[in-house]
Amino acid sequence: MFPSFTLRYARFPERFYARFDPVPVASPRLVAFNRPLADELGFDLSTFDSDEAAVWFAGNVVPPGAEPLSQAYAGHQFGGFVPRLGDGRAVLLGEVTDRQGRLRDIQLKGAGCTPFSRGGDGRAPLGPVLREYLVSEAMHAMGIPTTRALAAVTTGERVVRGIPEPGAILTRVASSHIRVGTFQYFAARGDADAIRELADHVVERHYPELARLSGNERYMALIEAIQARQAALVAKWMGVGFIHGVMNTDNTTVSGETIDYGPCAFMETYDPKSVFSAIDEGGRYAYANQPWIAQWNLARLAETLLPLIDSDQERAVEWATEVIKAFEAQYEAEWLAVMRAKLGLAHEEAGDRALAETLLDAMHQGHADFTLTFRQLCEAAESGEADSALGDLFERPEVIEAWLGRWRERLAQEPATPAERARQMRLVNPAYIPRNHRVQQALTSAIDEDDFAPFESLLAVVTRPFEAQPGREDYSLPASPRERVFRTFC
Ligand code: AMP
Ligand code: MG
Ligand code: MG
Repeated sequence: MFPSFTLRYARFPERFYARFDPVPVASPRLVAFNRPLADELGFDLSTFDSDEAAVWFAGNVVPPGAEPLSQAYAGHQFGGFVPRLGDGRAVLLGEVTDRQGRLRDIQLKGAGCTPFSRGGDGRAPLGPVLREYLVSEAMHAMGIPTTRALAAVTTGERVVRGIPEPGAILTRVASSHIRVGTFQYFAARGDADAIRELADHVVERHYPELARLSGNERYMALIEAIQARQAALVAKWMGVGFIHGVMNTDNTTVSGETIDYGPCAFMETYDPKSVFSAIDEGGRYAYANQPWIAQWNLARLAETLLPLIDSDQERAVEWATEVIKAFEAQYEAEWLAVMRAKLGLAHEEAGDRALAETLLDAMHQGHADFTLTFRQLCEAAESGEADSALGDLFERPEVIEAWLGRWRERLAQEPATPAERARQMRLVNPAYIPRNHRVQQALTSAIDEDDFAPFESLLAVVTRPFEAQPGREDYSLPASPRERVFRTFC
């Protein structure tokens, strides 16, 4: 069933990882399988059998040609450096070449205690596995770079997190699992050879256009290229109200994909200070902090590459400081591009930033739902009559009325017809996001009742985020006060 594995990471020197076979589980059962993704990866589905698949995706049998390993990495967790983290419960089976010729990692998350477990149990509870499945697939459907979910199995064993929960394993697919923390691991050991080898691999794998550069030019360009992708990524998160929740440097990829869906959440009522993550007590990873945390993480990456930049370290620091500073302007430009598209503005005008910011201020003041406001703007773009429905999303409709006037004046400067503009806006303003209470309900049914129907319904809805789905309108609505989720857990 599996396509053939390329053992690219396994070919790195042994200090990059620990060879580790998944620890078999009692009684694997396949509870979710992503056929379109499997097909994209080149799996042979003609003889697909879900019992057999459960055994593979539980790691009970190592697929032919795989050489499972746990990757070494370090990381800043909530600002504090931990020199040795690594995959404490994940194994990389190997890479496969997908139908478009791209190398993709296949990893089992929850595969048992690895040499990096540091006291953890090496396992994953069903709830977080299903949350990652739902949210990563929703992010992908919204066009946001992300790791993907290929399969979820339950293990027939229980894991204890306060109350015992069913155990599960997620099969995660990524363009790679190389993190800022992977570079930090070697930097902390003064291992310049490893850093160079890793950087060259990252160029080859994720930034092949830089391969023609040599010496320090290549590594300088690499930092800038990773920074550009992170700026674009976080701007996209901001555009859909996504809050990652654990933006540690070990959860920041160099590919520019979103990784590690733990206590993440989607904001409902707009509030830039929103925090859901149960482990983020200080609000370090609040919604509005995310760009600046990404910048901080990039500074940590740049530090690891300084020895490759200039033999004069003072000059290297000076150069890197300038580059990291430029993140602000890059991010602002990416964010504005996201907001322009959301507002239906095809060309640039000087007042666009203020227009976007005024809307957000009004949403904040009026306690408006972030997603519904933008989706309702698509209706308002099409017909002036939808303005009152938009006003209804605000506690006091007056706060949005003046803004609507300004927006309409701005739209009048653009050639698109209202219908065409609305069509474009509906391609970037989702109607359906994985609302936290819906996710919670789906998880609870699966955990408590072994009922996966709510998970499947929600997955079907959120993987078509931009389409009107008649009969599914309820999924677009915010939580009622009784349903509201304040905290998310990993
Ligand atoms: P995270 O906050 O998910 O990025 O995880 C931080 C570190 O803790 C990583 O090294 C993980 O592999 C490790 N870890 C998380 N959960 C477990 C677990 N249940 N058992 C062992 N290691 C874990
Ligand atoms: Mg992590
Ligand atoms: Mg995690």
